[in-house]
Amino acid sequence: MSRYDYDLFTIGAGSGGVRASRMSASYGARVAVVEERYLGGTCVNVGCVPKKLLVYASEFPEHREDAAGFGWSFPEGRFDWSVLIENKNREIARLNGVYARLLDAAGVECIEGRARLLDPHTVAIGDRTLTAENVLVAVGGWPSVPEFPGREHVITSNEAFFLKELPRRAVIVGGGYIAVEFAGIFHGLGAQVTQLYRGPLFLRGFDDDVRTALAEEMRKSGIDLRFDARVERVEKAGDELRVTLEGGGQLEADLVMYATGRKPNTSDLGLEEAGVERNAKGAIVVDAYSRTSVPNIWAIGDVTDRVNLTPVAIHEGMCLARTLFLGEPTAPVHEDVASAVFSQPPIGAVGLTEAEARERYGEVDVYRTRFRELKHTLSGREQYTTMKLLVDPATDRVVGAHMLGPHAGEIIQGLAIALKCNATKAQFDATIGVHPTVAEEFVTLREKVAPGD
Ligand code: FAD
Repeated sequence: MSRYDYDLFTIGAGSGGVRASRMSASYGARVAVVEERYLGGTCVNVGCVPKKLLVYASEFPEHREDAAGFGWSFPEGRFDWSVLIENKNREIARLNGVYARLLDAAGVECIEGRARLLDPHTVAIGDRTLTAENVLVAVGGWPSVPEFPGREHVITSNEAFFLKELPRRAVIVGGGYIAVEFAGIFHGLGAQVTQLYRGPLFLRGFDDDVRTALAEEMRKSGIDLRFDARVERVEKAGDELRVTLEGGGQLEADLVMYATGRKPNTSDLGLEEAGVERNAKGAIVVDAYSRTSVPNIWAIGDVTDRVNLTPVAIHEGMCLARTLFLGEPTAPVHEDVASAVFSQPPIGAVGLTEAEARERYGEVDVYRTRFRELKHTLSGREQYTTMKLLVDPATDRVVGAHMLGPHAGEIIQGLAIALKCNATKAQFDATIGVHPTVAEEFVTLREKVAPGD
């Protein structure tokens, strides 16, 4: 009989913590998970899921406009934000229940409250203390807003999901995917949107061609996109907010949302007391198997700031359960993780960007196309799809695939399998396309882009 209450004690019932706990219990471990806020964590409550529901909502006006060229006419629509938010909340509550039942069915004890480490084997929740042989820290991240005058007037994505009403004018500050997605959501639902980013081009980490093409599409759709723009202060003036930019210029808005990054959610967790090392950004430092500097404490998901996506946190959780309770040390793999930005149009990406591929391989063959999809020949929409493949000429292996265009997130998932299988360009070329689709362009790219083009 172990001298501890549990074999594994997980702090945080988000994407990673839930999966690690369930899998560990299924391998016979005695597991408890503690959650202070909501089952399912960020993704289910204030991330991927509600975000995608809002994205769907924001796309209907575009469908309505596109339908005219196909002979349809619809009366002017009316949008009710409160119906959307109520329905979204109901769905999230249902998912919270699903998570509770999944944990229960797996035999994981679920504890409500905020956990704090007292020492490497002891966790305090209120006045209760529990011990565990292994502790898993899966506490995720939290929006980070810089210090500036008027900070108290701005919201983050956490609050955006629960607004009482849709703003008429929204200013979104930030250049990551969350900022881009919310600019599209508010714009699609009818708000006048300005997006400000302090750098020269948003979506750092994505391929430059796709970043540039999305900026062009967003501007065409009517979003006021401003790069190299920094906020000096935000003031409240009656019912509205006044945003003053560095170097002059002012914007009036009903809502200012900051999506300027997220930081590991490690405050007051007792990490120092337990001796868990963190890096300069506050992320928990782990080895290839997600072990922290304290041998029996493990960390997965956003708190480790590796690849901050739900499927990655889940993968890390599954690997950890195998390592701890199956006797199969399994290191998570962070290469070739496909991702999407649910912008209008969306981005799908897997593998290296052109810049990364050049850095790694020196010479790279680039295949690229830009075209107007068939649908828009009748809809009349001036929207272009960009697709791109990057090939290592030494091996003919496709090392990156990037797309800006309809269903990019759906399309890139299949390509991620191809990259995982080390598919070559010759194998892409030998694949027969599905016609007429946008996706078929990925198997019909024949002309290399000339160097410098
Ligand atoms: P989380 O899911 O954040 O879970 C951590 C949990 O720990 C939380 O429930 C928290 O309440 C709890 N907790 C924290 N501290 C304590 C404590 N001391 N005691 C008890 N409980 C505690 N990813 C995608 O893959 N696709 C997307 O489309 C996508 N969209 C996103 C959109 C937004 C707006 C945001 C914010 C994120 C999005 N993400 C997306 C990222 C994704 O949500 C995260 O990568 C994922 O949730 C990380 O999982 P995790 O297990 O590390 O942490």
